[in-house]
Order: sequence, then C-alpha cells, then structure tokens
Amino acid sequence: MTIRHHLSDDVLMAYSAGDLPEAFSLVVATHVSMCDECRARMESFDAVGGAVLAQGDTAAIGADSLAATMALIKSGPPQDKAPVRRSGIFPAPLADYAGDGPGAVKWRRVGGGVRQAILPTDSGASARLLHIPAGAAVPDHGHHGLEMTLVLQGAFRDETARFGRGDVEIATEADEHTPVAELGEDCICLAATDAPLRFTALLPRLAQPFFRI
Ligand code: ZN
Ligand code: ZN
Repeated sequence: MTIRHHLSDDVLMAYSAGDLPEAFSLVVATHVSMCDECRARMESFDAVGGAVLAQGDTAAIGADSLAATMALIKSGPPQDKAPVRRSGIFPAPLADYAGDGPGAVKWRRVGGGVRQAILPTDSGASARLLHIPAGAAVPDHGHHGLEMTLVLQGAFRDETARFGRGDVEIATEADEHTPVAELGEDCICLAATDAPLRFTALLPRLAQPFFRI
C-alpha cells in the first residue's frame, strides 16, 4: 500500500489538540493507524503539546527549553508503541464504530448502486461508510463545508486525482467533483462532512433529506 494523499499539518494539530468533531477525528485516527508518515508527524505534535502543557504557566521559559522540546520531538512520545490492531479492511479505530468489516455493516441503498451507512457520532459533523460498485459514480456534488474521504478498499478518481487504499481526499466549499470508483474492485470509503453536501442534479437533491448524504 502506497499512500499518496495525506492529512495536512493543520488537521493533525487540530486532532492532537482535541479540536475536531468526532466524525473527523474518526477519519484522522483511521488514516493515522494506516499511515506511518502521518503517525510520526502526529506524535511530534503530541510531544510539543505535552511539553507546552508541562511548562504550564511557570514564569520564565529557560533558554534550553527549545532544545529540550526538539529533543522530545526526536525521541518521540514516551508511550509504548504496540502494533496497531488491524481488522480486515477496517482498521481498529473504525472497527470500534462499524464492526469487523463490510459484512457487519447495515448498508442502505442511496441510488445508482451506491450504498451507505451513517456511523454514530456526535452531531457536530457526520461520518458514513460508502460502498461504490466498481465503475459507478457518486452523484456530482459541491460542499457547504468540509468533506474528508478515506479509501478503505479499491480506488476512486475524480477531477483532481486518483485515491487508493489509505489515501485521504479533503474537499472544501470551493470544490465540486464526481468521484468514480475504478473498474475491477468495489470501492469502500469512510467520509466525514460538517455540512450537508450540495448536489447539482435535481433528483439527488430531492432525495437528500431522506438519505442524509
Ligand atoms: Zn498519511
Ligand atoms: Zn465530495
């Protein structure tokens, strides 16, 4: 698995500080469990956060505190690094929400052969699994807020790039796209959104309230 599309530093820092809604945290935790590169960057943010907290509001920051912080970053956090438990195509953080794999998910049809399952998270944002048959498209849509999509199986392409297992696509207000699953294997994704998507075609827009896409 070669991951080409990663989480930004902003997102990793917000996650590390506990500032993300649960749905986005789930996508971040799942990607990090699959991606050594983002895990290493996140551990360095955790170490900096820990060092800042440890200093608290004690008056003077010693001249060597930067050096100490950099040493902490290099040495990584003190917690043990047990291997991440994996469960089929659902990494551990996702398995806690969705069960052991696609077979355990209660899928609902949303048209065009696409199926989805909304996952239980708090109301600040919503998380769902999407099952897109090989070769099928998710309806053309724009976004009112932020959409973060992580590929768990297969691959999809849209106007910007190709996304395979482990890749994350982050789409914002400015992006309108039509993700299409590659031929050969059905694509399964985990997606988080912080506002309802805005479909451009009439029919999907009418259906939107029912499906909570
Ligand atoms: Zn990554
Ligand atoms: Zn989208």
